Amino acid sequence: MALKTPEQYVESLRKLKICAYVGGERVESVVDHPGIAPHINTVAKTYELAHQAEHREVMTALSHLSGERVHRYTHIFQSADDLVKKIQMLRLLGQTTGTCFQRCVGLDALNALYAASFEIDQGEGTGYHQRFCDYLLRVQREDLMLAGAMTDPKGHRAKKPSEQADPDQFVHVVERRPDGVVIRGAKLHNTGGINSHEILVLPGTGLAAEEKDYAIACAVPAEAPGVVFIFGRQSNDTRKLEGGCDIGNPRFGVVGGEAMVVFDNVFVPNEHIFMNGETQYCGALVTYFATWHRANYGGCKGGNADVLIGATAKMTRILGTDRNAVVRDKLTEMIHMNETTYASAIGAGAMGYKLPCGSYMFDPMMSNTVKQNITRNVYQISRLAHDLAGGFLATMPDQKALENPEIGAYVKKYHTANPDYDVMERIRMGRYIENMTSVTSMVESMHGAGSPQAQRIVMLGLAGIEAKIKMAEQVISGTDDVKGIALPKSN
Ligand code: SF4
Repeated sequence: MALKTPEQYVESLRKLKICAYVGGERVESVVDHPGIAPHINTVAKTYELAHQAEHREVMTALSHLSGERVHRYTHIFQSADDLVKKIQMLRLLGQTTGTCFQRCVGLDALNALYAASFEIDQGEGTGYHQRFCDYLLRVQREDLMLAGAMTDPKGHRAKKPSEQADPDQFVHVVERRPDGVVIRGAKLHNTGGINSHEILVLPGTGLAAEEKDYAIACAVPAEAPGVVFIFGRQSNDTRKLEGGCDIGNPRFGVVGGEAMVVFDNVFVPNEHIFMNGETQYCGALVTYFATWHRANYGGCKGGNADVLIGATAKMTRILGTDRNAVVRDKLTEMIHMNETTYASAIGAGAMGYKLPCGSYMFDPMMSNTVKQNITRNVYQISRLAHDLAGGFLATMPDQKALENPEIGAYVKKYHTANPDYDVMERIRMGRYIENMTSVTSMVESMHGAGSPQAQRIVMLGLAGIEAKIKMAEQVISGTDDVKGIALPKSN
């Protein structure tokens, strides 16, 4: 069965013995914990939409290995059209869930390993690529939910991995055996790992030749002995335990349920190792991953912003401000910023190019520009949502006040605006806006797929400043003018 149903995804998770902590306490079953459930529901949607005929072209693809129809989240990009469809898939899922659906890190890690394992084999005569393709076939046939783990804790930022006082600040090999390796360290900001089947562990940085133990890329089952997930705190996360409308997005939650994942002496068998000591390929691996991942945000944040713009527009109707020209102009500004990043992401795909392994890569300049714009536009769109929705986002009483027979009627009466709308509509829309524009969502837009400066370094490097200077010189002072009317000479 190449396409899991949402029910099969949840049941397959239930069978795993994942070692997870939420709120500092060990969780018996990730499936049954209310703090994790919304994030599982979001991933389940990715499985559900793949079975719907109207979304088949966007949500699925034909495997280049088996020819079978597989989930696009397990597909290796075979064309520029595949890259465009990926962005379309992300916008659709963003519109459907209004939050992060978590599977993109695993998808981009799959593609990065496919390309890097090919290039390592070409250069070093190793056998990683076939091993990786065997693994990929299983991922596609079982439609696995993969998490990608890249970001090491990093310790002292001015020191390299091998210079750290604590070598575990970067995931590394601590023991080599004939049948595999033992790894130790941790990865932070791990999106979706706690409700995944397997984790793809990749180096998070370029490495020096003597840092071979840090050049390890591999697949690790989420339930492998020694793997420990420690769930991150999010804005308003205890509201998930309370239930009710205060959660904001009760079914699908806010952002991706990030966790830190500890690898405490985890054994990885040879068949799941796709890089082991080839430091000279780490830079390319990281760049591939980042370029595939940065364009994503024009799709997923575009879909999320569609929901946020919708909630804000509905709020203006409830308030009775929707016909005001200034309000309409502010909504237009939100739309403008959202469509700009989406257009860049689609453009990055349309201008995609073929890699040596045969898969397709986004245009790097456009991909990095998408992510750079996200670090601004998501904040600006949220600012306008706050502006239009009003101060009650920060002051409205909670669900318990609404339910209290002594005061609930006061809360409803004095939060009613346009009487054509039920007051609960205003409160629910407000709670969604509040939660989706709170600190966790904002910081995720800033630092997910790399902090803003990481994109600026790439953009300046790719911009071809010298060529632009020559263009300016040629236009302003050049002598190869077309034949035409002679103009007075300038000094
Ligand atoms: Fe995917 Fe966006 Fe979530 Fe990243 S933030 S995992 S690109 S939905």
